[in-house]
Amino acid sequence: MQFCEYIKKHDNPFVTFEILPPLKGQSINLLFDILEQLMEFNPPFVNVTYHRSEYVYKKRENGFLEKVSVRKRPGTVGICASIMHRFNINSVPHLICGGFTKQETEDALIDLHYIGIDNILALRGDPPKNEREFIPEPDGNNYAIDLIRQIKNMNNGIYLEEDLKNPLKTNFCIGVAGYPEKHFEAPNMHYDMKFLKAKVDAGADYIVTQMFFDNKKYFDFVNNCRSMGINVPIIPGLKPVTTKKMAQTLPKVFHVEIPEEFYNEIDKCKNDSEVTEAGIEWAVKQSRELLEFGVPSLHYFTLETSKAVAEIVRKVF
Ligand code: FAD
Repeated sequence: MQFCEYIKKHDNPFVTFEILPPLKGQSINLLFDILEQLMEFNPPFVNVTYHRSEYVYKKRENGFLEKVSVRKRPGTVGICASIMHRFNINSVPHLICGGFTKQETEDALIDLHYIGIDNILALRGDPPKNEREFIPEPDGNNYAIDLIRQIKNMNNGIYLEEDLKNPLKTNFCIGVAGYPEKHFEAPNMHYDMKFLKAKVDAGADYIVTQMFFDNKKYFDFVNNCRSMGINVPIIPGLKPVTTKKMAQTLPKVFHVEIPEEFYNEIDKCKNDSEVTEAGIEWAVKQSRELLEFGVPSLHYFTLETSKAVAEIVRKVF
């Protein structure tokens, strides 16, 4: 089912979870165990992230370093199919521009459509590690908006190959990313919002936000969107902080702020199990306030925090 249709038909708020494929060579069973536990909360959708290849240097016998391309977390499409099959719920694959030509994107979309997937979170993707700038493939999509246009075209039966007979129309509901604290590359908030509006005007049906730890940032973002005429659902993305290390790395990796009050609480903790308690409490407070605000659903990032996420959802719903 399409995410946008589901929201229209359901008045009660619901939860969705975001998971990562396992590292290459690892079993899928650990992921299934995590999902098994999260099924307690009846998520109608589970998002599965997509990870592009990155370059690493491998030392060869002759002592030289060889630059090789590796994909550390393959399997997004297969995992989406098995989630649908195993749990009888919808999966939302993330699809990125990075590393794909438009032709490869078209083929991926055809695969997803044949599997019965109706939703895509359309993203540009980050530059590969150790590279400063995002560079698209020679015949690839440059920004998320270009990917949205390609998906929209296929929803209208327009493929790259122009002379197909009676081309099938796909039926994807398109989600996009939004940044209450601004995307890190954008010189200012207004610039970023202008392109977010362009993504919605190009056909995005809903927005999922980057994680944030200060609800005021989300409320301001929503008000900003509404005043610019962005009227699609804006789903807040939440993540609990469960270790002191996370309190340092999340701001660096995701360009988000940990409010002083929360950071001071984390700082007082004697060990990570105390941090987990504080992180759960903070996320419960955030979740309850967001529900009072009237959000249609809450989206939880589960990487390394699925137990804490389960505890939060149990307390909130
Ligand atoms: P875009 O919307 O294309 O924006 C990128 C930057 O370019 C922004 O600064 C924007 O202001 C600017 N911009 C946009 N359009 C234009 C234009 N036409 N001209 C000039 N500037 C423009 N990454 C992954 O690799 N895999 C995932 O599975 C994944 N999942 C995510 C899930 C969520 C909920 C979120 C919030 C992010 C996720 N990301 C993922 C990260 C995302 O790929 C990065 O943040 C990436 O740097 C930007 O992607 P975007 O789709 O927001 O890009």
